[in-house]
Amino acid sequence: MHQLTLAEIARGLADKKFSSEELTKVLLARIAQLDPQLNSFISLTEDLALQQAKAADVRRANGESGALLGAPIAHKDLFCTLGIRTSCGSKMLDNFKAPYDATVVAKLAAAGAVTLGKTNMDEFAMGSANESSYYGAVKNPWNLEHVPGGSSGGSAAAVAARLLPAATATDTGGSIRQPAAFTNLTGLKPTYGRVSRWGMIAYASSLDQGGPLARTAEDCAILLQGMAGFDPKDSTSIDEPVPDYSASLNGSLQGLRIGVPKEYFSAGLDPRIAELIHNSVKELEKLGAVVKEISLPNMQHAIPAYYVIAPAEASSNLSRFDGVRFGYRCENPKDLTDLYKRSRGEGFGPEVQRRIMVGAYALSAGYYDAYYLKAQKIRRLVKNDFMAAFNEVDIILGPTTPNPAWKLGAKNSDPVAAYLEDVYTITANLAGLPGLSMPAGFVDGLPVGVQLLAPYFQEGRLLNVAHQYQLNTDWHTRTPTGF
Ligand code: GLN
Repeated sequence: MHQLTLAEIARGLADKKFSSEELTKVLLARIAQLDPQLNSFISLTEDLALQQAKAADVRRANGESGALLGAPIAHKDLFCTLGIRTSCGSKMLDNFKAPYDATVVAKLAAAGAVTLGKTNMDEFAMGSANESSYYGAVKNPWNLEHVPGGSSGGSAAAVAARLLPAATATDTGGSIRQPAAFTNLTGLKPTYGRVSRWGMIAYASSLDQGGPLARTAEDCAILLQGMAGFDPKDSTSIDEPVPDYSASLNGSLQGLRIGVPKEYFSAGLDPRIAELIHNSVKELEKLGAVVKEISLPNMQHAIPAYYVIAPAEASSNLSRFDGVRFGYRCENPKDLTDLYKRSRGEGFGPEVQRRIMVGAYALSAGYYDAYYLKAQKIRRLVKNDFMAAFNEVDIILGPTTPNPAWKLGAKNSDPVAAYLEDVYTITANLAGLPGLSMPAGFVDGLPVGVQLLAPYFQEGRLLNVAHQYQLNTDWHTRTPTGF
């Protein structure tokens, strides 16, 4: 039963082959048995899950239907969940029980999804390896000595290991797409403003966006349908109608114009990944797509711009964790300054402290123009490159990451080496565009992802291309040995 996708689960539940309660029990037992190897969960919510599963079974018995009604999922541990620990992977929030549900959590619960637990993540979503979590590193089910990617590494490892069919995640600079690539999943970062950020603990507010991680594009469509939509509680949420994503999956790719940026195939890209990306292009050409070389000339400036803007916003967002209102408080503070200093010094891990310092520096008087303002100007150039490219093509295709998943600990002493791995994903966040990563093959037994980018609000186009690709390839069906 654990091999079923969301789409198959919906059919099985509708046909009364099994109940949501039975399925939930099977998956909870599987998590108890296998997750000690992976560390993909921070909290399990067995009681809530069983209660939600029973309620979903009653709703179905009363004639209700819906693709998510009775479907087991998990939430990245930065989505606030009423009365349940919401840690953001940090000691700072280890004792924090959210007083309300995030909009995404509330919407999915209303659709009948069953929450199995809260997944592990890099501390405050800062990282690409899921090694900065206060709760320990997550392992990649494809090779337990390698990282699963980050920051949504817990959601990715759990879904890849078939502990559950799908999970929520967030992407500030690649944290849905990069772990999807590292664990052979399909992950979608929606257009900025498509999914509500209300109750999603902020890292960098102008870049953060929630989205689905699943095994197939078909399942991403189902989960995104439950997450997307206007939310008056989030001032950056956009009031655009949500299309029927599942209905968009079956469009023909005849004449689809695919742009492949020449800058993507530079020296930094593993040549074996480049070959797999070219193979995926050939596959899409067979389905009728037309390929064209394009250029994104400002791409080289994206990493430095991102690593000014994201820490700057983080330094401001994380100022609320002061030991006074909620979260960790140091023992026996001497005075107020000591309370602030020690609560923050003891509550935040080294990567979070590094980013707060970099961000505060970039925003300080005298440096603001040189760093923050400059980075914002680069951000506009990156966006303009995409706007020009989308005048010529319908989607942009390339690698999701320059290398496959690295070994645990391999980049711990050199944070910049990890930042450089974000080169293909961060531009979509800077521009606010939707992006998807899907399985495209293997290098040394480790999965490789191909990334698709589309114009604003064209999530349906991304899901359509990915679904057609998945009907004609079987990379996404491969299962890691031992799971
Ligand atoms: N790796 C990037 C960072 O560390 C992106 C993380 C994310 O998308 N949350 O900032």
